Amino acid sequence: MKGIGTSPGIALGKVLVYKEPEIIVTKKEVKDSNQEIDKIEKAVKKGISQIEELYQITLKNVGKKEAGIFNAHKMMIEDPEFIGGVKKQIESEKVNAEWAVKNTSEHFIQMFENIEDEYLRERALDLKDVSKRLLRILLEIETMDLASLKEECIIIAEDLTPSDTAQMNKKMVLGFVTEIGGKTSHTSIMARTLEIPAVSGFKDATKTVKNGDFIIIDGKEGLVLLNPSEEDIKLYKEKKKKYEEFKLKLREMKGKESISKDGVKVEIAANIGTPKDMDKVLENDGEGVGLFRTEFLYMDRDKLPTEEEQFQSYKTVAEGLEGKPVVIRTLDVGGDKDLPYLNLPKEMNPFLGYRAIRLCLDRTDIFKTQLRAILRASAFGNIKIMFPMISNIKEIRDAKAIIEEVKEELRNEKISFKDDIEIGIMVEIPAVAVHSDIFAKEVDFFSIGTNDLIQYSLAVDRGNQDISYLYNQYHPSVLKLIKMTIENGHKEGIWVGMCGEAAGDEKLIPLLLGMGLDEFSMSSSSILRARWIINNTSKEEVKSMLDTILSLPTAEDVEKFIDENIIG
Ligand code: PEP
Ligand code: MG
Repeated sequence: MKGIGTSPGIALGKVLVYKEPEIIVTKKEVKDSNQEIDKIEKAVKKGISQIEELYQITLKNVGKKEAGIFNAHKMMIEDPEFIGGVKKQIESEKVNAEWAVKNTSEHFIQMFENIEDEYLRERALDLKDVSKRLLRILLEIETMDLASLKEECIIIAEDLTPSDTAQMNKKMVLGFVTEIGGKTSHTSIMARTLEIPAVSGFKDATKTVKNGDFIIIDGKEGLVLLNPSEEDIKLYKEKKKKYEEFKLKLREMKGKESISKDGVKVEIAANIGTPKDMDKVLENDGEGVGLFRTEFLYMDRDKLPTEEEQFQSYKTVAEGLEGKPVVIRTLDVGGDKDLPYLNLPKEMNPFLGYRAIRLCLDRTDIFKTQLRAILRASAFGNIKIMFPMISNIKEIRDAKAIIEEVKEELRNEKISFKDDIEIGIMVEIPAVAVHSDIFAKEVDFFSIGTNDLIQYSLAVDRGNQDISYLYNQYHPSVLKLIKMTIENGHKEGIWVGMCGEAAGDEKLIPLLLGMGLDEFSMSSSSILRARWIINNTSKEEVKSMLDTILSLPTAEDVEKFIDENIIG
């Protein structure tokens, strides 16, 4: 049976089906609405004190960030719009408090559920939690006590509210499976923080599985095995052991250098979209930011961000990394990333169209504002500038000339910046990879953007599901372009990084190391695993296999070769 894997890890154990007591609310007409209002006020007070207690428990057992959810609950239970709405209904319709709570909360829950944003939509779960609390208090209903579990178990529930998870005795809970909730629901977030395997979106779980059943859950794959065979139990016990050993090894990677078995040091950096992503970079011990996708600062708003707004964002990131490198990529819009307020023309081939550096060299007003912000921030850390979608040398020269103009302006205004700031380009168009010996003479570094390089070299739209089987990072032609770019960069004495998804691909990392890649930039959550792979690979050993690998006929052959000869 399959659900959504929301917290990785494997658990084997007996089931406890957690059913919330049914809350039945009937509509009653009341004569004295003041009495009902009094009831609701008392229930809110009691609810607040329960929530405050849960805040303290979570703060102690889990952490400040996770406890924050109860601050949100407190705000909701006191919210004048919500409670005001309840009271108004009691008064105007002369109904009982319970009915008014049910009705008003349903109205707000529906409102949340209709919001597009997944995060906001899941706030409906918080309001459900709060309104159930109020109803239980009003109706004097006892709940199942998850705090005093005596036996180890895997909890199966229709849904688990943050209040449920906060109270449960963590030592006894091996995992959970819920019918609803997604990757960003609080239960999933808590499960990941507590490192408890969890699966959600498993329809009818509470009907399919009974108390006392034995199950296995795989929180990475989203799998649930009900009453498994001896063979499966053995297999998953082995998987669990391996996973736990691996987790320990990954944790040991924190604070270590990224250095191969034969002593070659590389840099493992992070890809970010906004300064908010910095928490994860630091938590996962990123050695820098290899790609700051600045277009996110321009999205979800109705006008261009100001120089000052951008400056603050770049400065925050640069300072947060305390001197470690931060590669800021200039605006890369167009293609699949639209900015409605720019009224960009509709194009037949947006990925080949008016985008990224092409747009910036045309709209120099937008480009200059961004460059001013980046240069100003360069006084506060180790910032480098990178241009996206470069396809010819003139673009580099023109962009550099604009940087010089902006520097001159700043000098005249006596604003400080890093004069010798490094300037590099994304190598994501095959023409640049092929001609990289010449391009390397114009810049301080290359960062290979495999997401686009694969799409352009294989002529496969990176977002089209129907042809996704053709999009393959192991394609020998793609690997040849990568190797050529790294070698040509090195011949000219510049460093070469990679910030496309391939840099974090566990099978490609050894190959890239063998090719001599200097910097690997990836999503923060992949950093420690990548470091572990680097630390367990010998560069020279892989290098000696490259000729064989690059002469294999297909991507499938390459993958098989890596599986059999490198990963092992
Ligand atoms: C790339 O193309 O590999 C890349 C990193 O850029 P983006 O995914 O933002 O296009
Ligand atoms: Mg790209």
